[in-house]
Amino acid sequence: MKPAYDYTLEDLDDLLNMACFIQADKAREFAINVLNSRDVPIPWMLYYGQCYDIPEWIPNAFWALVHRWTGNLTETNFHILGCRNLRVLFHVKEEVSNLRSQISYTAPSIPHDSTCPSNKECQDTWNASWWGSFARHYLHPERPETPDEAIFKLSHAGPPKVHVSCHTRAVEWIKEKGILQREEQIIQHSINMVLQGSWQP
Ligand SMILES: [Zn+2]
Repeated sequence: MKPAYDYTLEDLDDLLNMACFIQADKAREFAINVLNSRDVPIPWMLYYGQCYDIPEWIPNAFWALVHRWTGNLTETNFHILGCRNLRVLFHVKEEVSNLRSQISYTAPSIPHDSTCPSNKECQDTWNASWWGSFARHYLHPERPETPDEAIFKLSHAGPPKVHVSCHTRAVEWIKEKGILQREEQIIQHSINMVLQGSWQP
């Protein structure tokens, strides 16, 4: 067998194909290990995961397609993703996008602390900051923040003029209600359906 660095993606695709067909476990393992060490394009990760029964690759590839893939639908991508995956993907992306818009357009009400000097001023500042600062990054068209990144920023870069205790309470409330995590449930549900081969919108 030639050294790992000599294998192109096409070679590894052929090797996996052959190894799965003749049930050559060692060759399959070799190809998977080499692919794991490469920067494989995301659509190909999903394709390999599904074609060659590597289920652990499917969730990561699917997450990346929903969050990071801007939809450069070349003819090759179209073929390797396939109509069924694309249907699931576009459906989920739209659902997540709608959810993010809903969250961004309406700032949550602050559960004010008893030490808050002016509930109205505090809420007005929070509302302005929610749209002017939080939403800009959360809705970024090329690199939207993940829910964890958004929560981290909300927690650590509190908007000025919002009463400190109120800000802490508001962030805790958002975490407790899992508002930014709802999209993870939507995506996970679709991944489960894709893995089971029984996806329905
Ligand atoms: Zn307040």
